[in-house]
Amino acid sequence: PVVTRFAPSPTGYLHIGGARTALFNWLYAKAKGGKFLLRIEDTDRARSTDQAIAAILDGMRWLDLDWDGEETYQFARGERHAAVAREMVEKGAAYRCYLTQDELAQMRVEAEAAKKPLRIRSPWRERDDEPAGDKPYVVRLKAPTEGATTIHDRVQGEVTVQNSEIDDLVLLRSDGTATYMLAVVVDDHDMGVTHVIRGDDHLNNAFRQLPIYRAMGWAEPVYAHIPLIHNADGSKMSKRKNAVAVDLYRDELGMLPEAIDNYLLRLGWGHGDDEIISREQAIAWFDLAGIGKSPSRFDIKKLENLNGHYIREADDARLAALIAPRVAPDLSAKDVELLQRAMPSMKPRAANLVDLADGATFLFRARPLEIAADAAALLAGDAPALLARLHAALDAVESWDTEKLEAAVRQVAEDAGVKLGQVAQPLRVALVGRKTSPGIFDVLELLGRDESLGRIADQMG
Ligand code: GLU
Repeated sequence: PVVTRFAPSPTGYLHIGGARTALFNWLYAKAKGGKFLLRIEDTDRARSTDQAIAAILDGMRWLDLDWDGEETYQFARGERHAAVAREMVEKGAAYRCYLTQDELAQMRVEAEAAKKPLRIRSPWRERDDEPAGDKPYVVRLKAPTEGATTIHDRVQGEVTVQNSEIDDLVLLRSDGTATYMLAVVVDDHDMGVTHVIRGDDHLNNAFRQLPIYRAMGWAEPVYAHIPLIHNADGSKMSKRKNAVAVDLYRDELGMLPEAIDNYLLRLGWGHGDDEIISREQAIAWFDLAGIGKSPSRFDIKKLENLNGHYIREADDARLAALIAPRVAPDLSAKDVELLQRAMPSMKPRAANLVDLADGATFLFRARPLEIAADAAALLAGDAPALLARLHAALDAVESWDTEKLEAAVRQVAEDAGVKLGQVAQPLRVALVGRKTSPGIFDVLELLGRDESLGRIADQMG
């Protein structure tokens, strides 16, 4: 059975690229009827925070990327990592290295002078005369020196590295804690991970992790290293050019999680020309073969378009609940119900929840309405007189529904010998305080008789 995992380091927020990695792992597990696990790689004690862990869990839940079982915390598994390092020493696959800081510094200087990258093969690799006393040591991998290692990566294809390129990396630090390289392999093995799907910035690490699997006689995972996401200009995705924290997409840009998921899926994976892909379709179609080899560029316009699509598709009650806190801090249940009734006329034009909420504020504004500067001119000239005629006509409407309201407004325009727009424009500004709004008859209906007539009266002069 397929087991995938997402293994973020909790040092800040859930990164949009991390979210894509999580999504691909989640989808692959679902597509194969397997399991998707979450491991928090919190071994960097100085940089890992509870807040960052919470942000990751929260972001994953928001994106509906539920994981199987409890999440694993890497730091808590320190004993196990150390035990594996000891076992590797016993097997002769790793060794205690007593090189001092000074000796290491010297090796670094020599490598630099020879213009060669520093690849440590410690003299302790071949020695068994451990120093007396309790001298500090690290445990190093006895990396293979001859031949080559080939990975059949499901995205990158066949990649080969000469073993002479791989150094005797540290597995266990002198304080007894495991390095990332050891911890990741031990945890993946113990968690039964069969497929490691992650950013291609980790491809080099795979060559340093495989010898650990081999030394322990563990089954090697299938690797799929996905190209990183780039900015629109082709540079590596950065905070300066894009929002990278998932919570910004939610809180500041007003995106729906299904839009993010759909966008991230398309960012690096394709199924023909399909752009809008539901969860069900994604699960049915997702495969590693569909992941592209070249980095994809982040296109906020595309994401906004998808978000608009999902807003139009979204349930009105859900949208009302989502935008309520953005519209005003203290809306009553009745207010939220009104928001919900407004959604059908508002959502066709909204690109995000911020706009949607902003467009709905007119429903709750206090009289007399503040009139936007660019709309004030529409209330000048004969507008007050037209508004007075509208007031009289609407006041006489018996049942306050869009059909009757439209008939009444049209009649006023006809009687005044002007086009409908000439009446509708000042009416809109009087009711909304702005030049744009949902359809004017919907606005009248949503505001109701008393509020509508009151707002019109305010501008009659
Ligand atoms: N914790 C690593 C990271 O956040 C991921 C390790 C892995 O996926 O193997 O980059």
